[in-house]
Amino acid sequence: MFLKKIEIYGFKSFPYKVTIPFSPGITGIVGPNGAGKSNVLDAIKWVLGEQSPKKLRVKELSDLIFAGNEDKKKVDFAEVRMTINHDPPVWEKYKDFPEVVITRRFYRNGESEFFINQKPCRLKDIQFLFLELGINTQSYSIIDQGEVSKFIELSPKERRIFLEDLAGVSKFKITEEETKKN
Ligand code: ATP
Ligand code: MG
Repeated sequence: MFLKKIEIYGFKSFPYKVTIPFSPGITGIVGPNGAGKSNVLDAIKWVLGEQSPKKLRVKELSDLIFAGNEDKKKVDFAEVRMTINHDPPVWEKYKDFPEVVITRRFYRNGESEFFINQKPCRLKDIQFLFLELGINTQSYSIIDQGEVSKFIELSPKERRIFLEDLAGVSKFKITEEETKKN
């Protein structure tokens, strides 16, 4: 399993559809200041289910949609589509799919759409898919600038949460908390 491709349209600084292919192993994204490197990472976090404006480096969620510039008018929605190589399969439910495609769309009127393999789903379905693998925007599968030093300074409790994420047990905790609520 590896991230094969990310397609971005109307998200932050990307008014035109861009396709960024990845290969197994290490990929570097380089470019001048303000070119949109961090926005690519934000797009990945967002499609994985991130909801916090702060973590996505915006004031409000509507700032995720391309706001227009001197060359191009603002657009009506943002879309990020992530293609995951799924051969050999890791998700039993999608074992017959050599690729799993996750799509997230957000309109200016506040509406959201989510898809797994083109089929409409809930945000929760996407979040659970990755929680199962220990991949989520709070876990250290995504390491932001400055976070290595932050890890060293974590409290024992925060460190436990980190290790639980890595071990893939967070989803059981979330399910437990939800069960208690209901
Ligand atoms: P650095 O090397 O400084 O870290 P970077 O390549 O990571 O730069 P980003 O932070 O990804 O740059 O991109 C910043 C740019 O994205 C800014 O020019 C900002 O105006 C633009 N941007 C962010 N949100 C939007 C939006 N909604 N509409 C249009 N442009 C946006
Ligand atoms: Mg940056």
